Amino acid sequence: MPKNDNIDNIIDHKLFTEQDIHNMCVKLGKQLTEDYAGKKPLIVGALKGAIFFLTDLVREMNVKEQIDFMDVSSYGDSLESSGQVKIISDLATDVKDRDVLIVEDIVDTGLTLKFMKELLKKRGAKSVKCCVLLNKKANRQIDIDVEYYGSKVGNEFVVGYGLDFMSFYRNLRYIGVLKPEAIKLAANK
Ligand code: 5GP
Repeated sequence: MPKNDNIDNIIDHKLFTEQDIHNMCVKLGKQLTEDYAGKKPLIVGALKGAIFFLTDLVREMNVKEQIDFMDVSSYGDSLESSGQVKIISDLATDVKDRDVLIVEDIVDTGLTLKFMKELLKKRGAKSVKCCVLLNKKANRQIDIDVEYYGSKVGNEFVVGYGLDFMSFYRNLRYIGVLKPEAIKLAANK
């Protein structure tokens, strides 16, 4: 962690305001309402980054849904994926014959989503799709279908609205780009 905790010292610039994020949730919620009409999807939130996005998104969806969470991790406190996805805590719900919608904060290498999609399909889900807030394509390591996303982002490390920097700053209302100095400081810790 950088010593000075002041948010201005770690955020370079805002990328998405609260209003931008709200607009993305409304748009995605409308699309999902149409696509899941008459179904009872199981919404699987990927902890912890997707918590705020999931709660805003599902309230824009007019469908009969159930919610569960899964904590999977490929990053730990690092700023780069380790390439190994681990289940930290599993679902409580049986996904057999369910239409599953994974909700994730950001897709980067694609490894986390690939792991989750394959696992839920193996467990017998009827369909498995995903909805991510941010789609970072520059680092993609595998070909993966991202059925729904709010916005593309460049190859920069973003924080806020659930997205963390070394487990902090998830509670920012906006999404910002981390200052390169903050990344360097953290790397030298
Ligand atoms: P993937 O497996 O696609 O490489 O990574 C997905 C996970 O990496 C996300 O759920 C998120 O936790 C983390 N991640 C990837 N890019 C960023 C980023 O720019 N900022 C933050 N805070 N986390 C990221």
